[in-house]
Amino acid sequence: MAERGKDDVEPLPRGGFRCRLCRVAVANKPSLEDHLRGKKHQRLENLRTVRQSQELRSVFVSGFRKGTPASELSDYFQTYGEVVNVVMDKEKGVYAIVELQNKEMLKKVLSEPQHNLGGQKLRVKPREKKDFKYNPPRKQGSARQEQLNPEKVAQKLCEADDVDAQMSVLVQLFEFSESERHLRDLLVTLFQEVFQEFFPGSVMIPFGSSVNGFDVSGCDLDLFLDLEKAKHFQASANGSSVPQDGASPKLALHSEDSILSDVDLASATVPEVLELVAAVLQKCVPGVHNVQAVLTARRPVVKFCHKESSLRGDISINNRLAVCNTRFLQLYTEADERVRPLVYTVRYWAKQQSLAGNPFGGGPLLTNYALTLLVLYFLQTCSPPVLPTVVHLREQSGDTEQAIVDGWDCSFPKDSAQCGPSRNKESLCSFLAEFFHVFEDYDFAGGVISLREGQLLSLPSFLSSEASSKFKTGSFNLQDPFELSHNVTANVNKKTALRFQLCCRSAAKYCRSLQYQRKSTKGKIWGLVRLFQPGNLEAEAPTDKELVINLPLTMCQGKDSHQLWFQKVCAGVMFVFEDVLKCSFSETQQGLGEEGASIAEPEAKSELLSSGFKRPLDNGDDSLSPLAKRPRNGPWLPIEKSVTWNCAVWHHVWLGRRRIRRQLDPIEKTNLLELEAKVSALISQQEGEARPAEPLLRFAVRAQFNAEDTSDEQNTHISLSFALDPEQAVAFKDFFHFLQNFLPQMLEQYLAAQIP
Ligand code: ATP
Ligand code: MG
Repeated sequence: MAERGKDDVEPLPRGGFRCRLCRVAVANKPSLEDHLRGKKHQRLENLRTVRQSQELRSVFVSGFRKGTPASELSDYFQTYGEVVNVVMDKEKGVYAIVELQNKEMLKKVLSEPQHNLGGQKLRVKPREKKDFKYNPPRKQGSARQEQLNPEKVAQKLCEADDVDAQMSVLVQLFEFSESERHLRDLLVTLFQEVFQEFFPGSVMIPFGSSVNGFDVSGCDLDLFLDLEKAKHFQASANGSSVPQDGASPKLALHSEDSILSDVDLASATVPEVLELVAAVLQKCVPGVHNVQAVLTARRPVVKFCHKESSLRGDISINNRLAVCNTRFLQLYTEADERVRPLVYTVRYWAKQQSLAGNPFGGGPLLTNYALTLLVLYFLQTCSPPVLPTVVHLREQSGDTEQAIVDGWDCSFPKDSAQCGPSRNKESLCSFLAEFFHVFEDYDFAGGVISLREGQLLSLPSFLSSEASSKFKTGSFNLQDPFELSHNVTANVNKKTALRFQLCCRSAAKYCRSLQYQRKSTKGKIWGLVRLFQPGNLEAEAPTDKELVINLPLTMCQGKDSHQLWFQKVCAGVMFVFEDVLKCSFSETQQGLGEEGASIAEPEAKSELLSSGFKRPLDNGDDSLSPLAKRPRNGPWLPIEKSVTWNCAVWHHVWLGRRRIRRQLDPIEKTNLLELEAKVSALISQQEGEARPAEPLLRFAVRAQFNAEDTSDEQNTHISLSFALDPEQAVAFKDFFHFLQNFLPQMLEQYLAAQIP
C-alpha cells in the first residue's frame, strides 16, 4: 500500500476500505492500491499539501473598517514582505485571511505589537489549523439525498400517527419525484434514439426498480437492449429485402459509419455485441461517462453513469426474463395497495441491518430483488392469502398472454384485476410483525421457497424434480418465479442467512412491544424507527458466558477425592456424548493442562474448532492424555485440571425424546442410561441410518475443575464450557437447553453406577 495515503485509509467490514480523504469506499486491497495511486487521490493529496502550507503562512485579520477592500489590506502587509493572497469574508466583510510569502514573514507580522490601518486597530492572529476536508461537487438531486439520510427519515416517521402511516411516509420519502421520473424517461428516449441509429430496429426497454413499482430515489437504471428486430432487419437488409416494420435507419447498413457493417448480429457473441454497445455509449451518447463492459457477470452488462444527474445504470442484451419478472412485480403492486409499503419497509430495514444491497456488486447479501420476492411469497402464504400463486395466475391468463421466454413459462394476465381482491384485511402494522415472526425460524436451507406454488418445497422432493438439476442449493433457497432452475439467493452464505434469521427474531420481538405499536406521547422514537436502527444481535444468540453447565460438588459420590471425582466426571461426559447421545467425541491435545487459556477467547475457540473432530494423532505420549486410549473404568492416573473435547452431533437427538421413550417396552426401562441410548439410536435411525455429510452441530467442550480453596465446598465445582462457531449459535441454543437438564441427570446416573 502506498505509504503516503496510509493514514487516510479506514478498514471496513467484509474486507473493504474507505479513503477518508476522497470519501470513497473500495472493495479490497488491490482496488485500494489502485485508488491511492489514482489521479483523484493524488490530486487531493497535493491540494491538501498546498492548503496546509498556505495555512502555515497565513494570518487571520479583523478590526478593520467594514467594506475595506482587499487591496488596502494587501498594501498594508506588503511592508513586511510579499502578500500572496487576501481572502475577504464574503458575507459581512469583517475579517480576512492574508496569505504571506513565507513563515519568516509570518513571524515578523506576528511579532509586531500593534497593527493600525486607516486609524483602526487591527487584530492579527495566526490562522486556525483545520483538517483538510474534500467536499465533492454537489450533484443534482443531492438535496433529495440529504432528505433521505437516516436521521431525517427517522424524524419524519416519528411525526406520523401510526405504523401504517409511517409506512406510507416511507414510500413517499423514497419513491421517485416527478422530476426524477421525467429525467429517466428522457434518458431512455435519448438512448433509444442513439441506439436506433446504430442498431436499426432495436428497442430500449427499461426494467427493474425504475419501472416495477419499487422505485427508490437514486436507484440504478436497468436497461434491456432488445436486438431481436435489429437482427431481422440486418438479415433482410443483407438479403436486400425491405424491412416490414417500417424502421427507417438513417445510416446505410453498408456504409463505413455503420457499426452493423462490421458485425453479424445473429452470429456475434454476447461479449462482442456488448463491446459495440459500450463503444456507442462512450462515443455517441451525450453526458454519459464511466462506461465499462462487465462481461463476467451471470448476465453480462455495460455499466455507465450519466454525468449531470449522477444516475448509474446498465444495459444488457440477454435479459428478457428480467423484463418479464419486472412486469410480474408490477402486477403484484397493482393487485394490492399494501404490497408497496410493505416491500419498501422490509427493503429499508434490511439495508439498515446490512442484510441486503451488495455495495460492490456480488457479495453474500440478499439482493433487493430477492428480498422483494420474499415479501411477495409471505403475502402469498399468509392466511387468507393476499396474493395469488404464479400457478394460479397462469391459469387465469388468456390466449394472448401465453408466453414462453427462454424456455420458461411466463404466462400471466396483464390486468391486475385477475388477481382478485383479497379477503385478508390485516393492517400493514400486523403484516410486518408477522413477516418477521414467520422468518425468524424459517428453514431456508432445508427447503425451497417457491412463489410458483406459493409454498416451501421440501428439499428431497424438489431435488427429484426436473428443475433441480441446475438449481444451486445453499443456505438460502429462493426459486425464481419463472426461471425455475435459478436460485435467486444462491449468493447468500450461511452467515448472512443466519444473520437474516437473527435480525428477524429481534425484529419480531420488538414488534410485540408497545413501543412498536403506539406513537410515543413523550417525543421518543417509536414504531418503525427503532426497527431501522442497526441492531444488537448478540442479545439474541447465547453468549459464551451463558454456555456453561456447572456441576456442583454435591454430585460427588461417596468419598472420592476431588481429583478422582474430576476424572470420573470427565469419563462420564464422554460416555453421555458418545454412548448415550451417539455423538462423535474426541479429546483435543491443546485443552490439556492449559489452565490459563479461556475457551471464550476467539483464537482459542477457532483453534479448537479448526482442529477438527478426529481423534488427535497418537504421539505416543500417553501421559499427555488422561482419558484417551484408557479403558473408561480403568485405574486413574493423576490428571490436569482441564480437558477439552471436540464434539459433532449428527442427528436431532434432543428432539422428540419423550415420545420415543413412551413407545419403548416398559420392562427395558430399568437402566436409564441404556434406555436413553436406545432413544438416541432410534432417533438416528429415523433420520436415516447413514450419517449426513456434515454434522448438524460442531462444538468444543472444556471440563474444568474449579476451586479457589478446596475446603470451600460451596464454590468447588466442575464447569463444562461450550465453544462454537458463531454461525451455529442459534441452532446450538436448543441443544444446549436440552443438555442443561439432560447432562447432569445422566452424569448422576453414570457416577452412581461407578460406586463399587
Ligand atoms: P435496485 O436497483 O433498487 O436495487 P432492482 O430490482 O432494480 O432494485 P437490480 O439488481 O438492479 O434490482 O436488478 C434489476 C432487475 O433484474 C430486477 O428487478 C429483476 O427484474 C432482475 N433481477 C435481478 N437479479 C435477479 C436474479 N437474481 N434473478 C432474476 N432476475 C433478477
Ligand atoms: Mg435496479
